[in-house]
Amino acid sequence: MDQALEPGLYIVATPIGNLGDISQRGGTVLGAVAAVACEDTRVTGKLLQHLGVKTRLIRYDDHASDETRDFVLGLARESAVALVSDAGTPLISDPGYKLVRGAREQGIAVTSIPGPSAAIVALTLAGLPSDRFLFAGFLPSKAKARADALSELAGIKATLVFYETAPRLIDSLAAIIEILPGREVAVARELTKLYEECRSGTPTELIAHYTAHSPRGEIVLVIAPPGEVETSAEDADLLLREALATLKPSQAAAEVARTTGLDRKTLYARAMELK
Ligand code: SAM
Repeated sequence: MDQALEPGLYIVATPIGNLGDISQRGGTVLGAVAAVACEDTRVTGKLLQHLGVKTRLIRYDDHASDETRDFVLGLARESAVALVSDAGTPLISDPGYKLVRGAREQGIAVTSIPGPSAAIVALTLAGLPSDRFLFAGFLPSKAKARADALSELAGIKATLVFYETAPRLIDSLAAIIEILPGREVAVARELTKLYEECRSGTPTELIAHYTAHSPRGEIVLVIAPPGEVETSAEDADLLLREALATLKPSQAAAEVARTTGLDRKTLYARAMELK
């Protein structure tokens, strides 16, 4: 860096698998700051080694004690300090927001050096509407909490993006069949790495594939908005019949409209016929 950096906190996005994806500015900043706050000094140490710089590393996450946070903020008041996570953009399902909040409260300058984030990379590959999307982090691991989280998002008219782990992928796809019927899904895996893949289909097709080919590595799940994939008349009848078992026709129509994006009045008329 030609000039010393101004004091402050520099949020630096790092590669999600391909070291070539560190931006020129990100690399320069990591070499010029007084210290880099990071989740795991070994992981970030490898990136710094790749960049050929030997900046001091400080371990930091949002569970860090107030003392550690104050220490990092104290440094950032006097000199330039970077925050990185193991991979991708800090704060996106990663530590950092408490540090940024603290910095802003204390009048410490915060600058963000943008770069890769798995959620955005997956959205660019999935072939699903990208004008409105909702990133919802990781789904809960317990079945009931996962179902509740999906139900809560069922009516949102936007593509849904989740971080996922390989061991939980099949369970999540099974929950999508039940709670978000008729939605197309894309499984984006190992993005920017050697075995990158983005596989689209119905959750049923994806379960069949990943049962035969055990999924590995890091995964982003992208789910089409309601109504993007047409629900067949047979599927709509099936859903209405299920709903009518416990709900009044108007409620059943509203519920099926919510999960499929189909017209509520048309569903109500059909519910009255089926009742
Ligand atoms: N802050 C990161 C970002 O901006 O992408 C995300 C951190 S979050 C703790 C880690 C999760 O991101 C992984 O479990 C996976 O769901 C997703 N992820 C990270 N790298 C990925 C990759 N190369 N391919 C697919 N998913 C990835």
